[in-house]
Amino acid sequence: MHLACYHSSVEIIDMLVKEGSTMGTHAGIMGTIFQAACQRKDSARAAVLEYLLNAPGFDPTKSSRHWDSNLATACLLTDIGIVKRLVELKVDINEEDILGRRPIHFALYKELELVEYLCANGADIFDLDLMERNALHFAVASSRLDVVKYTLDLNPDFVHAADCDGWSPIFWTVRECLYWDTETTQRGAIIEELIARGASITIQAQRLDRQWTPFELARYYDLSYDITKLLIPTPQAAQQSEYASAWARILSALDSDFVVAKRYEVLYGYCDICLFALIGVYYACTECEGFAICFKCYRSRRIVHSDHEFDPCNEDDHASGESDQESDHEGATDNESGDMEEYEDCESAVSDEGERE
Ligand SMILES: [Zn+2]
Ligand SMILES: [Zn+2]
Repeated sequence: MHLACYHSSVEIIDMLVKEGSTMGTHAGIMGTIFQAACQRKDSARAAVLEYLLNAPGFDPTKSSRHWDSNLATACLLTDIGIVKRLVELKVDINEEDILGRRPIHFALYKELELVEYLCANGADIFDLDLMERNALHFAVASSRLDVVKYTLDLNPDFVHAADCDGWSPIFWTVRECLYWDTETTQRGAIIEELIARGASITIQAQRLDRQWTPFELARYYDLSYDITKLLIPTPQAAQQSEYASAWARILSALDSDFVVAKRYEVLYGYCDICLFALIGVYYACTECEGFAICFKCYRSRRIVHSDHEFDPCNEDDHASGESDQESDHEGATDNESGDMEEYEDCESAVSDEGERE
């Protein structure tokens, strides 16, 4: 039944149902039969989902270990029409998964219309998940400015709140999601919006074995100069910050080579915790087939995946075990482009644009 919902026509699925195939099972990574259909990428998906929603014996409230609730999956993988159908069938709009995420969190990766619809129908957008991420941590993943502004308007304090690793939303803004139809072109505008709303760029947060700044994270992802320059504080702001000595080191080395995450020819999928692309070092569960987490979520894996061990993958990557702070600026990889001279005039350029903190 799962394979039929993933691959076959409505006629085949209907035939299986009439021959007595059960509608209520779930199968490993495919999830419920509804979730298997959500994962289709062909033109028959809408018709198959509509068939399931109307089929006798279909239970919209079913969930699965891998995908959790049908509503959360619909928010992430389908469109607002399917989400509305599920809500009209009275599924729990605030059902939490094992990470404490609710369907609204998945909608925040997508588009404003979906977020507004769920909020208008009782979705709780204010509670944190178990990794202490607020709605803005998710909204910036969409890389859509309208979703970010909507979330900030609901609670301006979201901009300052850090997750369990000290990552405020501006850190998540410079990460590359690359999945779920997320945008990429509005990142600079979002960073400017967060700074205008009071986000600090002089802060530090935990990485695997030490701390780093939003600027260093952006360099790790090898983001363009247009983006990274937004994350460089004025010398005065750097000097007055809590991390003045770290910033003195960074600012003195702006025109040096930074090590960046290796981009492999084929990305290894997405992190099962944050749903961002696995770029650079990542970790695979030794017990759960297909369960892998990124370098960010590895720090807090015990919160949500405490019983199993993980094997590192792409461990030759920068983030895996660096212990010397100075090595941050040593050993450029092949990904280092030759545009470092752009940083040479950065301090004066930033000063011209006004104070950033
Ligand atoms: Zn992750
Ligand atoms: Zn596991």
